[in-house]
Amino acid sequence: MAKYRIGIDLGGTKLAVGIVDSTWRIVAESVSHDHTCCDEEGILDRMARNVDEALGKIGASRSEVAGVGVLFPGHVRWPEGITLTTSNLACLKGFPLRETLQRRLGMPVVVDNDANAQALAEHRFGAGRGTRNMVFLTVSTGVGGGIIINGELYRGATGTAGEFGHMIVAAGSDAKCSCGNRGCLMAMASGIALRQAAERNAAILASQGQSPGLPTSCLDLDDLDGERLRDGFLENNQLCQSIVEEFGSYVGIGIYNIFQMLNPERVVVGGGLLNLPDHFLDTVRKVFRGLARDMMHDELDIRKGELGGQAGMLGAAAIVHSEEGPFGISRDQGEKPAST
Ligand SMILES: [Zn+2]
Repeated sequence: MAKYRIGIDLGGTKLAVGIVDSTWRIVAESVSHDHTCCDEEGILDRMARNVDEALGKIGASRSEVAGVGVLFPGHVRWPEGITLTTSNLACLKGFPLRETLQRRLGMPVVVDNDANAQALAEHRFGAGRGTRNMVFLTVSTGVGGGIIINGELYRGATGTAGEFGHMIVAAGSDAKCSCGNRGCLMAMASGIALRQAAERNAAILASQGQSPGLPTSCLDLDDLDGERLRDGFLENNQLCQSIVEEFGSYVGIGIYNIFQMLNPERVVVGGGLLNLPDHFLDTVRKVFRGLARDMMHDELDIRKGELGGQAGMLGAAAIVHSEEGPFGISRDQGEKPAST
């Protein structure tokens, strides 16, 4: 029986490969940052090199691996593993990643959206443990999500369910999203939204006769990132407090919409912006409760993710595990071209 599963986190800046053992520990890693300047062949080469390097660290071979799970930062057609859209890795748009990588590595491969894998990891090993129906929402540079129904990932007809970042939470807003629509959650509350949010909140405060300055760590608005937003909030900078409050409100509205659609037991919120002070999540809960009122029969548990950066690789390995079995992936798949 194979001893390991491999999780590959193919990010917009980082390519991380983790070897996961049968007790769900990451026993070796290989991380690189030079794949974004490559074409598709270069990215596949880099993934294969990282896989071999990580296996080499524990003296293991490819034959000891049950399968490889790849997380992709964009829409993925499931189960074919064709990458549909991505804002980071343009050369992989519309690319048959599963089939091509499977042939290259000689191992079974599954490819899924990054937030789906993080959702599964939080459900199996993190803040979603013990639930049957859970939603994961990641609020970071962008906004993504994953849906667990009856203990399994729900992917929808083509694999793109749970893209909560493009849920419209502010119809009528001018804030433009990367998808071209206006008022999407991602355009209102995310790292990408920060600049627009700062300008909007500065204008609101000015209209109230206040002239809020930037936090001390920022020379101009271009310096403002998640970390400086947090610092500014903690130093009682009015603009930062106003942005955090607004981000919390929009995420609260987003979770209210999710609640009405899916009625999950728990919503786990992860992602880089969760380094914001607790006030952020308190605002999310307050806005959510204000909307749900007596339509909520049992308290919806909204809590922070537990796994952080490891969620991706663990989740990718967990997706491999969930696809194993008589009707799922098998070692044979990697030995021959999947298109024949
Ligand atoms: Zn959008």
